[in-house]
Amino acid sequence: MKKLILARGADVALSQDEAGDIDEMGARSRAPIRRLALWGAILLACIVVGVVVITTGLRERALGSGKRELENTVLLLVRHFDQRAEDFEAIQRDLDARIRALRIESARAFKDAMSGEDVRLILNANSPSDVTSVNVFDATGMLINSSAALPDASLDTYGQSILQSLESETASSRAAVLLTSGSSVGDWGVAISHRVTTPSGELLGFVTKIVPSTVFERFFASVVLGEESSIALLHSDGTLLARYPHMEAAIGKRAGRRSLFAIANLTDGRASARIVSPFDGKDRLAAMRPLSQLPLAIIATVTVPAALSYWRDQTLLLIAVASIMVVVVAMVLFLIGRQISRQHQAARRKLAIERHRLDTAINNMTHGLLLFDSSQRLVICNQQYINMFGLSLEEAKPGHSLRSLLMRRKELGSFKGDVDAYCVAVRDTREPGQSSIETLDGRSVFLRYQPLSDGGWVVTTEDITERSRYEAHITHLAHYDPLTDLPNRALFREKLEQKFKLIDCNEPFAVFYIDLDDFKRINDSLGHPIGDELLKEVAVRLRQCLTSADSVARLGGDEFAIVRSDVAHESDLGNFAEMILAAVRQPYDCAGHRISVDASIGIALAPRDSAELDELLKNADLAMYAAKAEGRRTWRFFRPELNVRMKARQELEQDLRQIIEGSGLSAGGFEIHYQPLVSLHDDIITGCEALLRWRHPTLGMISPAEFIPVAEDTGLINVLGEWVLRTACAEAVSWPDHVRLAVNVSPIQFGGQALGLTVAAALAAFGLAACRLELEVTEAVLIRDIGSTVAIINELRAFGVSFSLDDFGTGYSSLNYLQHFPFDRIKIDRMFVREITEVSGSSSIVQAVVNIASARNMATVAEGVETQQQLDVLRAVGCTEIQGFLCGAPMPAADIRRLFSLPPAKKVAAS
Ligand code: C2E
Ligand code: CA
Ligand code: CA
Repeated sequence: MKKLILARGADVALSQDEAGDIDEMGARSRAPIRRLALWGAILLACIVVGVVVITTGLRERALGSGKRELENTVLLLVRHFDQRAEDFEAIQRDLDARIRALRIESARAFKDAMSGEDVRLILNANSPSDVTSVNVFDATGMLINSSAALPDASLDTYGQSILQSLESETASSRAAVLLTSGSSVGDWGVAISHRVTTPSGELLGFVTKIVPSTVFERFFASVVLGEESSIALLHSDGTLLARYPHMEAAIGKRAGRRSLFAIANLTDGRASARIVSPFDGKDRLAAMRPLSQLPLAIIATVTVPAALSYWRDQTLLLIAVASIMVVVVAMVLFLIGRQISRQHQAARRKLAIERHRLDTAINNMTHGLLLFDSSQRLVICNQQYINMFGLSLEEAKPGHSLRSLLMRRKELGSFKGDVDAYCVAVRDTREPGQSSIETLDGRSVFLRYQPLSDGGWVVTTEDITERSRYEAHITHLAHYDPLTDLPNRALFREKLEQKFKLIDCNEPFAVFYIDLDDFKRINDSLGHPIGDELLKEVAVRLRQCLTSADSVARLGGDEFAIVRSDVAHESDLGNFAEMILAAVRQPYDCAGHRISVDASIGIALAPRDSAELDELLKNADLAMYAAKAEGRRTWRFFRPELNVRMKARQELEQDLRQIIEGSGLSAGGFEIHYQPLVSLHDDIITGCEALLRWRHPTLGMISPAEFIPVAEDTGLINVLGEWVLRTACAEAVSWPDHVRLAVNVSPIQFGGQALGLTVAAALAAFGLAACRLELEVTEAVLIRDIGSTVAIINELRAFGVSFSLDDFGTGYSSLNYLQHFPFDRIKIDRMFVREITEVSGSSSIVQAVVNIASARNMATVAEGVETQQQLDVLRAVGCTEIQGFLCGAPMPAADIRRLFSLPPAKKVAAS
């Protein structure tokens, strides 16, 4: 059993295989989604990497530009301060010019020349507004003049410090800078001092201007660029002199080794770098540039976070944009993926449903179906095929090779050929084909092979067992008699045709035509079911007579035929015919009836009697009729003269028709002779039997025994019989009243209901009394339709007509009839009379008949009495009447009339 699972979302049951296939399809359907996700991830990664790369680059640029900005700032500041330094040098130049003009060459002279009010005015006039004071010191550091009206007392102490710092300066540098501090907090100042020397270079003193730190810081404040940035003025030894923003605690402190000074360019003292501030410990970008004339340096800084603030904003914006992009891309990818997934799911469901439908269709079709691919691998095998060949599901799974399938079928017995050869043949066959095979359990399977363009092929199979059986049944019905199951006439002819094809090979064969004698009588008297039973039994017996080379057929009715091969001698055929007759004659027990039957057989030999099928059959038929004609219960070979006889019979029939339809019977040579019947009681003629004669224009006198059967066979007997009746009645009217007229009536005439009317009309037409007419019927009339026959007989008897049973003893049931039929007279057949005088003759039989007849008040007539001895015996047994040549042969009407005119004694004397 297939395990069933339910596909999600689809209201269909799928087999495990189907689900497997659909899973596979699902996996295939997920591949594009995975690809999409991968590409999406790559795109997102690219965005992220791009953002990182861009922001990193921007950061570096931000830092770089921050640095450059700082460098530019310090450059501008340095230029500014260099400019201011030149102004200060102007004072110095004035002083120098005065010294040279006054030829001051000693410290003393200097002190004197510089301490005057005039000099103070010069200092005052030249002192810039942002400078606290311009002071002149002597070579010992003593203040000798000042621009200020009341110079600060501390200036003296500064003078010593300045002197020291000037001495520590390199000889080339004329200037020195010193940080000064005032009395109050934050009251810092920068003292910038210049040497004053003699032209020979001897120190005379120095000029100092003191600039408050706040002056610098205010100026820096106007320049400084933004938050977190600073500008500072440092001594070239690293001491912080002024800073914006102001940092009280750091003023006067020296930058350490790790400051910009450590990395300053040796030639111009410039430096820019990212450093940790020695003053506030912050991570800063810094640019430094020394003043060209003074041992001062300007340092501008900005904290790294501040330098990067624009970058940060940009980065945040970029990240925001990138994030939006990422979200949008992710959303788009998600939606695409979901759409694809939905489409695939829908497609999957649809496929599952279609697959299910297809599978249902394939598995519920009446055909078996196999589909192979070009590598001879199974693609589809439906349930019908599996059932048809008794395979298991596992053995018919897709992927199995043709070879393995055939090997399995060979094991199971449904494949008989060579597996490998078959596989090769299938591979090489590119044309459609079909074949049928038989399975072990006896079923027929029809295979149709259809190659496919891709190299594979389809095989459909329909179990055609039922159809074959049905066809076989139809064929059987067409060829076999349903009652006896013997071959019918059609098959018999086919078999004969086969025989004729071999006739050249010197293989003679014989055809036996077998016709049951008086079968109709049995059929009519006992009924058709018993007749059928009898025919079946006859068929069985005929079969038992055959060898394997022979065949028997039922040609129809009670006619059978046998084809006998291996004909060595003609005598063998005679013996075989006797054997058949013996077999047929054995009494039968049919539904409680014990029945005896006999047969007539005609034999024709091929190729001797004919080498042509129809002719051979006709010849066998003729031979059979010959046997019938010659007393039945026997067999006859075909003889060429039978043909002659048949021809003659046909000619006779033709003549008969012409006469009846044309000139009329009398003109055609028909006449009636009358034979007297003589009573043994008083030896007088009591009646005459009308016997028909035909004086044929070319053949002469023809016996009624010859033409009556022809007339009976053709139905002409009805016309003929009526003519006899009317002619004889017309004649008998002229006879003495006691002489009755006996007329023979054929069984055929009992066939219609008209016999009674015909008789009555004839009697009435000629005025013959009904009691003078006697109708002679044979036993044959009784075995026809008993009921209607008895009805006609009773009707005519009631009318006054009497009946005699003709030819008694030649029939079958003899005495039995006498009990059931109302006859007036029994005519004992000539056969008995002929033997009545012999020692072991028929006298006792005749005696018995006479006794039975007299017991039933029936008269007896002995036919064909020719001798006195016969007459004597008949008289002795008590027979009532005689008829025969002894009393008079049949004679023309005129002779009978003449006879009646003779005296009665003479009549008997004629015997
Ligand atoms: P059947 O009715 O038995 O007629 C008697 C036959 O015996 C007649 O032959 C007659 O000639 C013959 N016969 C009479 N006496 C003797 C004798 O002493 N010795 C011999 N050997 N024969 C004798 P027939 O006339 O040749 O008729 C033959 C049969 O034809 C008749 O047999 C009868 O069955 C039939 N037949 C004749 N005329 C008619 C007729 O008009 N209608 C019908 N249905 N049948 C007829
Ligand atoms: Ca008769
Ligand atoms: Ca008779």
